[in-house]
Amino acid sequence: MIRIAIANQKGGVGKTTTAINVSTALAATGWKTLLIDLDPQGNASTGVGISASERDASTYDVLVDKAPVENCVIPTRIPGLDLLPATVDLSGAEVELVGAEDRAHRLQHALRKDIGYDVCLIDCPPSLGLLTLNALTAADTLLVPLQCEFFALEGLSQLLQTVERVQQRFNPDLGIIGIALTMFDRRNRLTEQVSDDVRSCLGQLVFETTIPRNVRLSEAPSHGVPALIYDHACAGSRAYMALARELITRLPEKRKAA
Ligand code: ADP
Ligand code: MG
Repeated sequence: MIRIAIANQKGGVGKTTTAINVSTALAATGWKTLLIDLDPQGNASTGVGISASERDASTYDVLVDKAPVENCVIPTRIPGLDLLPATVDLSGAEVELVGAEDRAHRLQHALRKDIGYDVCLIDCPPSLGLLTLNALTAADTLLVPLQCEFFALEGLSQLLQTVERVQQRFNPDLGIIGIALTMFDRRNRLTEQVSDDVRSCLGQLVFETTIPRNVRLSEAPSHGVPALIYDHACAGSRAYMALARELITRLPEKRKAA
């Protein structure tokens, strides 16, 4: 199983939208996919149609009580896509784990066993706290959604420093699969400028595919379905399909490995 963390300490940059739609696209491509919701807000869980009342066991149980992942996942209505949901309890996990020596490794240990998925995507909360640290320690690679706005590069350098620290202390093999430019607005000159800066600074690390600002992407969650199902032909859905294809070409050939 390939583990991909989706992280950026800024809120509202498209992490959850990316996690939901890339997971759906990978599942549609025939990959057995697990979406892990690591944000106490539970937006990824809602976004794939699992309401709070349908969530029983969750990432909280996995991290705090060391419950086996396979006991906590639930199938979604999307074929090939299962969810490890988040509940509000998760907001207490950080404090509850304070004294635990293995607190940064809980998710890594939980995902060590082959539980029958080709890939898992981990939707991180908007901070660089213990939850995101668990995701970066557990992950093979990181996907960074980046909104093309002023200060985007400053936030990114802080994230890249964190990645370096994680590589030194917790997970030497952590890679960066790519940076995805999100909420791209062609009519906005600043967007274009920031996108050019990011690409000239980071080159190949930036995915060719940019995700446009698209109202269908923001409407879909209120219907409890990924945009890719809500309106598979809209510009946002097509962009996420293209991003998933590009992601696959960047992944190592270890899809079926444990
Ligand atoms: P994060 O998980 O980083 O906080 P979200 O994915 O939840 O960000 O996105 C923040 C808000 O912006 C949500 O309301 C979402 O529906 C909306 N959104 C995300 N991506 C797009 C997009 N490409 N176009 C329009 N709205 C978007
Ligand atoms: Mg989110």
